[in-house]
Amino acid sequence: MLGNLKGLLVTLQTMFRKPVTVQYPKEHLPVASRYMGFPVLMWDKQLEEPFCTGCMVCVRNCPTQCMSAVMKDNPHHAEGKSPRRKIVESFSINLGRCILCGMCVDVCNFDAIEMSHQHELSKYGRNDNRVNLEKLLEAGKKYQEESGSVEAAP
Ligand code: SF4
Ligand code: SF4
Repeated sequence: MLGNLKGLLVTLQTMFRKPVTVQYPKEHLPVASRYMGFPVLMWDKQLEEPFCTGCMVCVRNCPTQCMSAVMKDNPHHAEGKSPRRKIVESFSINLGRCILCGMCVDVCNFDAIEMSHQHELSKYGRNDNRVNLEKLLEAGKKYQEESGSVEAAP
């Protein structure tokens, strides 16, 4: 009898406990600050240009070969406005093939790419998650604002 009452008490306590889950996708739980979502490209607010030089070190080290980058001469350097002689011309990542390993972030010499908190990219098509330079920089700016990330030196 006492055992039954104890069991009932446990059940009642559980009934009034605040749930730890939410009604996804209507509600979202915050992700941890160190959570590694999909990679994004960082924006240099001081010089108003990307940190990325298009050097392709990340491209060569990506284990799933889902990235590509093209470099060009930086017009801002010719005008004396930027110390970067080269700058990225185009960049793309097929996020559908990205395994979130963070290798691209580790090997980048310019701190130009970061793992953001972005993790909800469900699509119907196999290659619908290809993102270009514009989208990667847009996502990077959003991540910089949300995380208050410190900018690296050029
Ligand atoms: S993200 Fe970094 S490693 Fe990759 S191309 Fe740009 S500068 Fe080079
Ligand atoms: S996180 Fe890994 S798999 Fe994804 S783009 Fe970077 S290196 Fe490639």
